[in-house]
Amino acid sequence: MDVSTGEQLKRKGPGDEPGNGADAEDERWMREAIRLAREAERIGEVPIGAVVVRNGQAIGRGYNRRETDKDPTAHAEMIAIREASEALGAWRLLGCTLYVTLEPCPMCAGAILQARVERVVYGAPDPKAGCVGTLMDLLQDPRFNHRAAWQSGLLQEECAELLTGFFRRLRGKP
Ligand code: ZN
Repeated sequence: MDVSTGEQLKRKGPGDEPGNGADAEDERWMREAIRLAREAERIGEVPIGAVVVRNGQAIGRGYNRRETDKDPTAHAEMIAIREASEALGAWRLLGCTLYVTLEPCPMCAGAILQARVERVVYGAPDPKAGCVGTLMDLLQDPRFNHRAAWQSGLLQEECAELLTGFFRRLRGKP
């Protein structure tokens, strides 16, 4: 994977001002997303993890289960969003932040908008499918009726290493 290093966190969108201790909180939840990504790897899935947080509590967790479920939509974010909606008893995830180890694809970016997620924090960019700043920025397109703030690059190296390590081991197999 093509991953740039040493990049500053990019801040974008409304309601995403630095300060008020948010960074330590963000890092804590990104570590939870990384833990979930490792769960995926344990069952032979590409390691991507996601967690939905509201008022300092995780209300939805997910990790990639595409092979296990034989489901092209079983991405970490979709599973975490579904679980969060069940927890809230509502399809609108108002006041929620979604943390994910890899930049969301177009499907997941669409689900984020549909769910009215307030903010997205991701670790590594995805040069092949990322639609939150890399190939497109679906979360900030003014033509849609909802926008979500986002920032990238949190624990980027760890998030990227999950993937590069996984594919390296995969290629190393006889
Ligand atoms: Zn996706």
